[in-house]
Amino acid sequence: MPLTEPFVFMGGTFDPVHNGHLRTALELQQWLNVSQVTLIPTGEPVHRLAPGCSAKHRLAMVELAVADAASLCVDAREVEAATPSYSALTLASLRQSLGPDRPICMVMGMDAYLGLPGWKDWDTFLSLCHIIAVARPGYTYPSADAMDDFTRRYRVESTEELWQRPCGAVMIHELTPLGISATQIRELVAQGRSPRYLLPDQVWEYIKQHRLYGYK
Ligand code: ATP
Ligand code: MG
Repeated sequence: MPLTEPFVFMGGTFDPVHNGHLRTALELQQWLNVSQVTLIPTGEPVHRLAPGCSAKHRLAMVELAVADAASLCVDAREVEAATPSYSALTLASLRQSLGPDRPICMVMGMDAYLGLPGWKDWDTFLSLCHIIAVARPGYTYPSADAMDDFTRRYRVESTEELWQRPCGAVMIHELTPLGISATQIRELVAQGRSPRYLLPDQVWEYIKQHRLYGYK
């Protein structure tokens, strides 16, 4: 283990948060042997279409989802920021609050990882954090794309190597594959079908109560 507890986080639109996110975060918490994994919902997403509901609702659903999970927590800095959400800004803000020596790990699904070259200032991320890319059904690595050289250059195979420094490495990791997406859940709700068991019951209740995603 490193001298200081690593900070492990997963950013996302969480529109809504679902069991694919939560199970990924929990398995990583156990595998990395850290006390918590933090979920950071985006405020104004810049890489995708406008979310199906407001940042306030998305944050509230993540809060409900982690309320009874001691090993998961939520950080509202992107939702509360006045500026649009950019990972580069979030990483700089985390580095500022956590200090220069603490390992920071940014967790992302393989779909997000393979799309990194489209993110603002992505080539600065490894100067601020490690990246852990987790397999996601439908997105395989290696693939013949722009991330190959990057991955080959920075990839490490063990967590010991990650903890030797505060930032700068990439890990590719496979967890229980769960083919759940928020898109699928929004579509089910809009069609009047139940998304139950794909997401926590409390989140489904919240969606119904606030009539999100076209729930009638
Ligand atoms: P949408 O369908 O709206 O894009 P999503 O299910 O992909 O939603 P996001 O909020 O976009 O959820 O994803 C946040 C992060 O969680 C991303 O890094 C994404 O790759 C990862 N992720 C989402 N679903 C899964 C899953 N089932 N397994 C592993 N990682 C996931
Ligand atoms: Mg997504």
